[in-house]
Amino acid sequence: MKKLLSFLFLLGLTFNLSAQIRTDLRLPELNGYKVLKCDFHIHTVFSDGLVWPTVRVDEAYREGLDVIAISDHIEYRPHKDDIKASFNRSYDIAEKYAKGKGVTVIKGSEITRSMPPGHSNALFLSNCDSLDTPNYMDAFRAAKKQKAFIFWNHPGWDAQQPDTTLWWKEHSELFDGGYMHGIEVVNGNDYSPEAHQWCLDKKLTMLGNTDIHAPIQADYDFAKGEHRPMTLVFVRDNSVQGIREALENRRTVVYFQDKIVGEEGYVKELFENSIEILSVDKSEKNVRIVLRNKTDLPFKLKKTAHDINLVYFREYEIKPHGTHAINIKLNNGVKSGNVNFEVTNLLVKPNIGMQYNYPL
Ligand SMILES: [Zn+2]
Ligand SMILES: [Zn+2]
Repeated sequence: MKKLLSFLFLLGLTFNLSAQIRTDLRLPELNGYKVLKCDFHIHTVFSDGLVWPTVRVDEAYREGLDVIAISDHIEYRPHKDDIKASFNRSYDIAEKYAKGKGVTVIKGSEITRSMPPGHSNALFLSNCDSLDTPNYMDAFRAAKKQKAFIFWNHPGWDAQQPDTTLWWKEHSELFDGGYMHGIEVVNGNDYSPEAHQWCLDKKLTMLGNTDIHAPIQADYDFAKGEHRPMTLVFVRDNSVQGIREALENRRTVVYFQDKIVGEEGYVKELFENSIEILSVDKSEKNVRIVLRNKTDLPFKLKKTAHDINLVYFREYEIKPHGTHAINIKLNNGVKSGNVNFEVTNLLVKPNIGMQYNYPL
């Protein structure tokens, strides 16, 4: 009996040590594509982060992420006297550990310069060491030579742009020269409306990442339902090449703090795929629409200009996986019209939500 108990104890211990629960994120779908949940900006002890690379893989697994990029700083390595290694090493450790876990690790580096041009991440590198150069343009050239996907990080970071988020002439040089393919519209919990507009104007890929340095639970309170910011990438296949193809073709939106930021076409499709209309009951003087939200994302609706003969509430929140009824009173014999809303947590322009019109 004693033996059996100790065997069961050991079994339990082994199980607890190895088993981790993966969160199944139920996010909106885009027709014809698979949605990958990605964080392309992550630090480890190999630069100024506080955790070993394998921990980043476990964190990503638990939170239901599909892809992470290890993007340690090239120019800033405060632990270098304790950890002496090539710039490729943090990726190598994470990639080896991630095998078979359903988390893809992308090799990257953060080119870490003063403003301008500030910080940029280069992804899909073959050799991070060649970015270690005194002149920043040489680092960008080395990244481009390796066909990296390069994006400008945290353009609104107040340590580098204290008053206004500016686009400098150096950014035009990088953009014109093919050294900038995207911008972080969200970094941590900071949303940059300027970056959102620049991405729309210049047809750059929108990214949202953690830039995590501490253990993830130090920055996000999962017990309160918080989630890390992430880039949702719409891929044809989930290979590294498939991820790159989607990033190059700007098939992304950003998911942060229960909001989506992106281009209107994608955002609208995501919304329409998230809401199922369960019933529409029409009578002489009323219409009752019952909706179901199929996702983990709430939708916040705010009434916009409409026919005053249609009377409905100003604000609605369609909670994750919840059903919700919208009652519309038809006054003065009106039989049809548009029920108009702004979905305030789906940002399609800087700080502006998507317009949605439902015809009765
Ligand atoms: Zn940075
Ligand atoms: Zn960083």
